[in-house]
Amino acid sequence: MAEATRASAEDHREVWDVLVIGAGAAGLWAARVAAERGLSVVLLEKTPRCGTKILASGGSRCNLTTTLGPAEAARLFGTKAERFLRPAFQALPPAALREHFHRAGVPTVEAPLEKIFPASQSAKDVRDALEREARTAGVRIALRTPVVDLQPGDEGEPWRIEAWPAGASAGETWHARNVFLCAGGASVPKSGTTGDAYTWLQALGLTVTTPVPALVPLRSPEAWVHELTGIAVEHVLAKMIAPSGKRLQERLRPVLFTHHGLSGPGAMDLSHWVARARVGEGEEGTYCLALDLAPDQSQEDLRSALIAAQGSSERPNLAGALPVVLPKRLLAAVIAQAGESSALLTRGGLQHLSKSGRHRLVEALKDLRVAVVDTLGMDHAEVTAGGLALRHVNPRTMEVNGHPGLYVFGELLDLHGPIGGLNFQAAWATAELAGQAVEA
Ligand SMILES: Cc1cc2nc3c(=O)[nH]c(=O)nc-3n(C[C@H](O)[C@H](O)[C@H](O)COP(=O)(O)OP(=O)(O)OC[C@H]3O[C@@H](n4cnc5c(N)ncnc54)[C@H](O)[C@@H]3O)c2cc1C
Repeated sequence: MAEATRASAEDHREVWDVLVIGAGAAGLWAARVAAERGLSVVLLEKTPRCGTKILASGGSRCNLTTTLGPAEAARLFGTKAERFLRPAFQALPPAALREHFHRAGVPTVEAPLEKIFPASQSAKDVRDALEREARTAGVRIALRTPVVDLQPGDEGEPWRIEAWPAGASAGETWHARNVFLCAGGASVPKSGTTGDAYTWLQALGLTVTTPVPALVPLRSPEAWVHELTGIAVEHVLAKMIAPSGKRLQERLRPVLFTHHGLSGPGAMDLSHWVARARVGEGEEGTYCLALDLAPDQSQEDLRSALIAAQGSSERPNLAGALPVVLPKRLLAAVIAQAGESSALLTRGGLQHLSKSGRHRLVEALKDLRVAVVDTLGMDHAEVTAGGLALRHVNPRTMEVNGHPGLYVFGELLDLHGPIGGLNFQAAWATAELAGQAVEA
């Protein structure tokens, strides 16, 4: 490790090569990479432990990355972020990340929906490995040490970082030639991420895209939706529709009906649109989640199946006539939304279905509209959408343009991906670039 310029240990006069703010996924990774390159690294963490969010992730199993290749994975972040993330995902592709964890004693396994988990199914193993590696590389970790401000030094002088350790009667100042600012977003504030860094970035004259909850369940005012609480639909194409009717984004992922509205990856992956509209950054009016309950069948397929059933001597009911299996209560709701009678669920009931009724029924199966008016908010959001505008950051190094020695990466950036290990992948890959790029 490079020799730190030591003045007084008590008042932290030493000038560190790198001071890392936040011992989350990104901070632990970048600190270790920089320390392995011989730099002196100190990591300040607000909470009493490293990797608080890692421990809570994936239902405490930690979906740590994806089975997708780097290009496919980056594409899921949307056009602007895809371009930004390309160098990071090339530097640390999902497969290389898995190999790293294998070498660190955390073998991984594949799961449905392109997910990767530790074979032990324990998020703690992931967190422990990252912390162990960082400490072994020589990173000094100060827990219960919230940073309260940071200031660039005058020409050639180090950055000044103000922290106020828990229980201390006064703050303390740290000095570093480089700052890794990776304090996360504002989701689940009780886990330590209260969006502290946004104000520091704004004070430096940088643009922060309004942080809003993402990967969060949706609220619907519709009583028929609440009545379906507990019903999960595994194979459904969910589409977010703007008030103007514009189709914004779609995901083929499970959807869960809840007493608030809709949850499950299909709904949560698209939730940021509603959150943005709630802060006045979308269209005025009501957004809808349109559910295609038969994504593998065309309208024509469904119509033909119904016509065939209506002509059949076996007189099947609607459930028996359809080429998809749907929970009975959901089917009843679809029938009601189509304005038809629940008699369709009884034997022979299909005989009374008119041509226009058939049309409406097929429409409801392929395009079941659920009004969504809000999200459950930051307390329930897996990530934050918004953050430091990407145009300020060099995508090859994560250094902030015009602010030498300041590196921003992880969830604090204005990017987020869908559920499926993609957000950890982004945190680790952007951290890798910062750790490799930083100079003493
Ligand atoms: C319930 C839940 C489940 C999730 N599951 C998954 C999953 O399975 N797969 C996946 O890919 N993603 C998942 N995520 C998202 C994932 O946790 C984040 O994308 C990831 O943690 C971002 O890493 P980060 O290092 O940028 O931020 P964080 O991990 O949030 O780390 C930031 C750190 O900075 C610290 N900090 C904040 N302010 C200060 C300050 N002022 N001073 C000092 N320290 C500070 C925080 O305490 C925190 O430790 C989940 C999120 C949640 C909430």
